[in-house]
Amino acid sequence: MTFKGQTALPTPTPRRLDPDGIAVEIVERLTYRLGKNAAAAKPHDWLHAVIMEIRDRVIDAWIASTQKTYEEQGRRVYYLSLEFLIGRLMRDAASNMEMLDDLQAALDKLGVDIDLIAALEPDAALGNGGLGRLAACFMESMATVDVPAYGYGIRYVNGMFRQEISDGWQVELPETWLAHGNPWEFERREASYEVGFGGRVDPAEGDDAGPHQMCWRPNERVIATAYDTPIAGWRGNRVNTLRLWEAQPIDPILLDKFNAGDHLGALAESNRAEALTRVLYPADSSPAGQELRLRQEYFFSSASLQDIVRRHVQYFGDVRTLPDKAAIQLNDTHPAVSVAELMRILVDDHGLDFDEAWDITRRTFSYTNHTLLPEALESWPVPLFERLLPRHMQIVYAVNSRLLGEARRSGQFDDGAIGAISLIDEGGERRVRMGNLAFAGSHSVNGVSALHTDLMKVTVFSDFHRLYPTRINNKTNGVTFRRWLMQCNPGLAGLIREAIGERFLDDAEALRELDRFADDSAFQDRFLAVKRANKAALSDLLRQRVAARIDPSALFDIQIKRIHEYKRQLLNIIEAVALYDQIRSHPEKDWVPRVKLFGGKAAPSYHNAKLIIKLANDVARAVNHDPAVQGLLKVQFVPNYNVSMAEVMIPAADLSEQISTAGMEASGTGNMKFAVNGALTIGTLDGANVEMRDHVGEENIVIFGLTAQEVNARRADGYVPRDVIEGSRELGQALQAIAGGVFSPDDPDRYKGLVQGIYDHDWFMVAADFDSYAAAQRQVDALWADERAWAKKAILNVARMGWFSSDRTIREYANDIWKIPA
Ligand SMILES: *Cc1c(COP(=O)(O)O)cnc(C)c1O
Repeated sequence: MTFKGQTALPTPTPRRLDPDGIAVEIVERLTYRLGKNAAAAKPHDWLHAVIMEIRDRVIDAWIASTQKTYEEQGRRVYYLSLEFLIGRLMRDAASNMEMLDDLQAALDKLGVDIDLIAALEPDAALGNGGLGRLAACFMESMATVDVPAYGYGIRYVNGMFRQEISDGWQVELPETWLAHGNPWEFERREASYEVGFGGRVDPAEGDDAGPHQMCWRPNERVIATAYDTPIAGWRGNRVNTLRLWEAQPIDPILLDKFNAGDHLGALAESNRAEALTRVLYPADSSPAGQELRLRQEYFFSSASLQDIVRRHVQYFGDVRTLPDKAAIQLNDTHPAVSVAELMRILVDDHGLDFDEAWDITRRTFSYTNHTLLPEALESWPVPLFERLLPRHMQIVYAVNSRLLGEARRSGQFDDGAIGAISLIDEGGERRVRMGNLAFAGSHSVNGVSALHTDLMKVTVFSDFHRLYPTRINNKTNGVTFRRWLMQCNPGLAGLIREAIGERFLDDAEALRELDRFADDSAFQDRFLAVKRANKAALSDLLRQRVAARIDPSALFDIQIKRIHEYKRQLLNIIEAVALYDQIRSHPEKDWVPRVKLFGGKAAPSYHNAKLIIKLANDVARAVNHDPAVQGLLKVQFVPNYNVSMAEVMIPAADLSEQISTAGMEASGTGNMKFAVNGALTIGTLDGANVEMRDHVGEENIVIFGLTAQEVNARRADGYVPRDVIEGSRELGQALQAIAGGVFSPDDPDRYKGLVQGIYDHDWFMVAADFDSYAAAQRQVDALWADERAWAKKAILNVARMGWFSSDRTIREYANDIWKIPA
């Protein structure tokens, strides 16, 4: 106790729970915390006052959870991720604290429009896409299933860029999500750590220094300061902490420089420190700025590991018991340098023997792999790694010699296999392989869908798998149903509640009880009415945002995700062009009115992805204004896809496009969100689509295209895309129209290269899958014509998707990997 002579601290008063009480408290916050007169308050002031009102209740639960964690003295999870794609928190927190209805009533009394102020909350967009969104869903689920957990990441000043479309092209603008302040975060000056870079390594001094103990003398240092955001689980059971690091210059040095008159030098140092946490790196970015990316990875790994070890030693006294009290999960390889950092802390700072430190390290870490794409497997040039992290380079070499020795002694590997296991890639420029470091330093390595995990065992990690045959396991991804059903689709959630009661709110698998309503025509009517209302809401939004006029009675066909060639937006656009031709050639047929919506960001340096956005917009302009189409086909690119946009688009979807080249999408989570909201999926047997088919039933999902095995076989047989194209009239004509400038009269050659790539190599098997895809789309049309049959399938999708709750995923992580019963 820090207060002298104090016997008991006063307990804060319980908050009022009725709408009148909440209204009074909101006005109090407005007045006394924000210093605003309610009569003159602006919408942003109301937003902040409302967030503070919700936040106070979250804080009560947060303090109670923290207390409980300390008392239980059990193992805690540390989830390290360079990305957390959180979105807005106001509705999420209010709903999880079970005060949304009362809050709404309170705001009605105050004459404040909750939707209007909710829309002012900026998206916390500290991630690129699925990987970052998974981290956000996991944080919410860990709190929900009562796993004591800390998320660790970076507090980027500029998160994901804001996308505007100008003349059909993507333009990237900085997103200033902190411009109005962030009422959700708490700066923790007391949790600050020094993080070093560069310099040299000397043997440790002193008689008791161990043989492996070294003293790293960095020549550059920054301060990492923590910002904590409370993450409330469902029904406020537990509130965990998301701790994000900000980089700051070390003040004393700066002061010295200022005093010595070196203002420019001090400024340069300060800018250099702050640059560390300024931008989120776009996925697939070019090598430019690579050094800064490695610095970011080490910065947040080091701060997090120092924090974890400090907390452990403070509470348990002995660093050797770390694996009993801490489970550190690496979300992909971005935090993989943490393995070497923990070794450094154990050996250099705590004087442990190298082998003992390695044992502790491996028992503490586990690693989730998110991609098999060779270009996405992280590695760093040895000279760069060594210059920035000289001590970690030594540790990597020392670990590598033990690892390769063990592999040799096992007698089952030739030189090629030994080379594949090595932490250093010796082919060409020598590089440190972060995936291998993460694998070697973990006791568990998991994939994110059954197919992806199987492929991992026979591709990137096949030799590691032979050496450590029990290490690889599968944890199929999930999504939080609080955000992705209850909050984003209150109409559907309300309907389900009336039909089957409330159990599904606590156990998503209870949605199964909807099975018996699938044939109930009264339920179908209400289900379709909810869908129609969601589509009308999306139409309204698109009219405001992009002046689009779309008919809510058309089939809404939606593909929203990062723009990437493997995700094959191009296949979808080419099919739209082919359909456009068909409608014009056969106007007498009963075409199903369709709206094709696209959304997603392209990495700023990814040329083809940006061209695909332009193509979608060029095709939209031609199709949408052609009277011969009679409004039967509309194409619309929706700018600035983010979590908040997803929350409006997904509940409005009839058809979900999950059409990646089989074997390339590790899991996908967008696919799950759509199905939970009653969209049918058109998809390949890729990632989690395979397991979705198993759960919803193959008659309730539209599968097309080559399997992962068939893709491999086709490539091995010498795939000739030109032959395929020449054998498909529809495809050939669509490609000719695109390449010939039909959609780009202002620049007829714009798409020549893009189309030529399909003729020449077609790495993503667009041509190979086209006919199968087009046929599947016509099958979708036929289904749509039978409204009852469609409704039944859609309801069965909702009923059978419960397994894809991230609560289930987290329980599997907790039981199998972290050994925390949940
Ligand atoms: C769910 C989600 C993703 C991931 O979508 P995939 O289709 O799985 O690639 C990406 N971005 C946002 C904003 C999301 O909500």
